[in-house]
Amino acid sequence: MRSCSAAMFTDHSEDPLDAIIIGAGPAGLTAAIYLTRFRRLCIVLHADDSRAGHIPLAKNIPGFPDGISGNDLLHQLVRQAERYGVPARRTEVAEVEKVGGTFACRSGEGEEIRARTILMATGSLDLGPDIAGLPDATNTGVFRICPVCDGYEVQGRSVAIVGEPDHALDEARFLLDVGARVTVLGDAFEDGFHHEAHRLGIGVCDNVIDIEMQSDRVTVVRDDAKLSFDHLYPAYGCIPRSELGAGLGLLRSDSGHIRTDEHQRTSVPGIWAAGDVVESLSQIAVAFGQAAIAATSMHNALRADDERRLSSPRCFDEIARPVNHGGHDGDKGKSG
Ligand SMILES: Cc1cc2nc3c(=O)[nH]c(=O)nc-3n(C[C@H](O)[C@H](O)[C@H](O)COP(=O)(O)OP(=O)(O)OC[C@H]3O[C@@H](n4cnc5c(N)ncnc54)[C@H](O)[C@@H]3O)c2cc1C
Repeated sequence: MRSCSAAMFTDHSEDPLDAIIIGAGPAGLTAAIYLTRFRRLCIVLHADDSRAGHIPLAKNIPGFPDGISGNDLLHQLVRQAERYGVPARRTEVAEVEKVGGTFACRSGEGEEIRARTILMATGSLDLGPDIAGLPDATNTGVFRICPVCDGYEVQGRSVAIVGEPDHALDEARFLLDVGARVTVLGDAFEDGFHHEAHRLGIGVCDNVIDIEMQSDRVTVVRDDAKLSFDHLYPAYGCIPRSELGAGLGLLRSDSGHIRTDEHQRTSVPGIWAAGDVVESLSQIAVAFGQAAIAATSMHNALRADDERRLSSPRCFDEIARPVNHGGHDGDKGKSG
């Protein structure tokens, strides 16, 4: 993507863009491709740390029968966005503020850019155990994050899960269904947990003192024995990167995910959200789909605003309908 200088970043402040996309992961880049192909003026602001960059080889993304690494996928998305001249700027957005009928995004360095709409595509952060060697073990596939993504690859293999007991049991059930031999690790579990795990055919290993990652194995150390597993999954969940939305009053779930309607509109008119930051399945295919829906809805809303401005000048928030999270007919009847 065309990277912008600081001057470009600030120059737009007098003349708002159609959209600012915050995030350059699968969601943000997909939305950028859609919006520029709709001939909308937009910019991508990103901190250059997409979760997808940690994927050694994703095999569940439709269209890639041999799998694709996260970095290769991001590279292809950037190449596609570049074809349409999408400008991008590497910066951490520190604040988004509503100013009249537009939104102002400010970086930590005090630079500002304004647009009529915002897409929050800021993703989420993984919570994990504090174990040495995790980055290498992630690359080799010994440490895995996401059973939905790669549970298929561990069928028939021995898998350990470490994390919050209830979450660990959910992941264990999922991995059991795809044919893995699963053991949940921990310090001490209640009797009810042992009983439920036993009923389901899930192993329990308590009194764990240490977990050691090797390039091809995981060794679990107890005071009386060492156990060896093919893979380790964490079960601590993710933290959505939705803090920018807090200041804007975006409705968020208890877990901090941004709530949207079926057009990816948030509770604040003019702001959409897509991908892992939204309450949904954290998957690239979902990020693609939500971004396509969001971009089309943004374009339709901008067009409606353009038409109304031509007939009677009014600001965007007067015409953007508030989100009804109980279901509404928003953009029905329009393409996408
Ligand atoms: C190890 C691992 C393996 C995975 N395997 C798979 C798999 O096989 N298949 C699959 O479908 N999914 C997989 N996933 C999940 C997948 O990576 C995510 O679902 C996907 O990246 C979500 O895309 P996104 O665009 O919503 O967020 P991200 O890709 O995380 O992108 C978020 C973007 O927002 C930017 N950002 C955040 N806050 C700010 C800010 N304040 N200012 C500026 N920029 C900001 C970041 O810099 C980044 O560019 C895996 C994840 C991990 C960690």
